[in-house]
Amino acid sequence: MIRRLSYNITRYFWQVTDFHYDANYSTNGDPNTMCHSDGAKNHSNSIYGNYLCDSPMKLIISAINAMQTIHPNPDFIFWTGDSVPHVKDSELDQVKVYYNIGNVTEQLLKVFPNTSIYPVLGNHDEYPKDAFPPGATSYYSDILSVSQWSKLLGENESTLFKTGGYYSSLINPNLLVLGLNTNLYYGFNPLTQNSTDPSGQLKWLEKQLKQAQISQKKVIIISHIPPGLFELSSGLMWFSNNFNEKYVHLVSQYSGIISAQIYGHEHTDSFRILKDSSGTPSGMLFLSPAVTPWKSTLPGVGANNPSIRLYEYTRETGEILDYHQYFLNLSAVITTSKDNWEKEYEAKRDYGLTSLNPVDFMQAARSFRNKPQLFKKYLQYNSVSQNMNPDCNDTCKRVHVCSITELRISDFNDCLNKPDPTFHPQPHSHPHTTPQPKRHVPRYMVIVICTLAGTVFVLAVIVAIVCIKKHTVFIPHQYSRFSSPVGKGPIN
Ligand SMILES: [Zn+2]
Repeated sequence: MIRRLSYNITRYFWQVTDFHYDANYSTNGDPNTMCHSDGAKNHSNSIYGNYLCDSPMKLIISAINAMQTIHPNPDFIFWTGDSVPHVKDSELDQVKVYYNIGNVTEQLLKVFPNTSIYPVLGNHDEYPKDAFPPGATSYYSDILSVSQWSKLLGENESTLFKTGGYYSSLINPNLLVLGLNTNLYYGFNPLTQNSTDPSGQLKWLEKQLKQAQISQKKVIIISHIPPGLFELSSGLMWFSNNFNEKYVHLVSQYSGIISAQIYGHEHTDSFRILKDSSGTPSGMLFLSPAVTPWKSTLPGVGANNPSIRLYEYTRETGEILDYHQYFLNLSAVITTSKDNWEKEYEAKRDYGLTSLNPVDFMQAARSFRNKPQLFKKYLQYNSVSQNMNPDCNDTCKRVHVCSITELRISDFNDCLNKPDPTFHPQPHSHPHTTPQPKRHVPRYMVIVICTLAGTVFVLAVIVAIVCIKKHTVFIPHQYSRFSSPVGKGPIN
């Protein structure tokens, strides 16, 4: 009984992602060259960062300290990858990559020495970036030793990690976390495109899910790159199509035991809804925004404010009850020089949800089409309130909604091309284009008119029959009244 009570209470965990620590960030550096110093002292960037650059160490420390100040005793922390800056491969090497990641490991351990931290690798955490080989290499053991992940992962987890950068770990007797290396499925990974199951991860994942189902455990999947498509770049799917199909099929089969899937990578704030074979929403994928504010080089993708996310969940089932999004308003920091982390929003309250289950999220996503205020909120959150007046036309809105609701490219294209009157743009307010309201005849008037017309018709028939019987000429009343010349009365 005591055990049930302790397991059923609401608990918390943090997710932090995409630090992209840049050791060469300088307050004097040129924002057009990632705020790297060129010797000239003619720039003045904030000590906590610049929207055109990756994170200085001060921002990383500030984010981790904010986690501790806001909620110092989480059950655990999910750290979903990408600690290395967006610089040319020629400016990095394998050892720099290891140390970059290790510096972030150290900071997390310093502030949370007694908290379980579950890390996963991001596509930038390899050298060269994106190039994860399909088999085991010394890279994974070097991450454990040089980047100090052996201090985060247990012995069993570490042994498995060496085979391909993935592991499973029991959070509690009822709840399992599967830390995946989905960089192996990335469309930009040149090393795995000819492989059917790189590092045997899919086979392993299926086995883990099957075992969890048999032993009635719940599972939380964490990884860096999510399946599905980018909501800011129509048609850009993160995984190669064959991997995306296999992965979505597998997680959809086991969605009954997967409490949540948690990813990073996009740097934007969004979510995805998994559906079962009958099309019913069956699982949630939470895509948390980045710590780095860096403005992406992808066309149409902007910068974001630095962010951290606190989830509420139940220990027994791993069910996500809510999440609280926190952020650092970097434009305010630039003027005040203070790192004041604030709550940006709460998922349940601000999306107007009754729960965070996929059916409720599906309803919210579909209502984006005809609730412009709710959709505007979602768009603001999408950039972590960096862009408060996002411009998103009808096509842009469709791409957002279809990316959220469809994880497969064929379903996404169908969704995009489906005729849907609620997607039509709002009518303009100019007088010449404002549609005039239609005049509707009230229903009761229609009934009265029909009844009168019927009565007149029946009477006319009766009169006609009487006239024929009397051998007289029938002149309808209305004609006699309006067209009979004066003096010519009815012939009767
Ligand atoms: Zn990233």
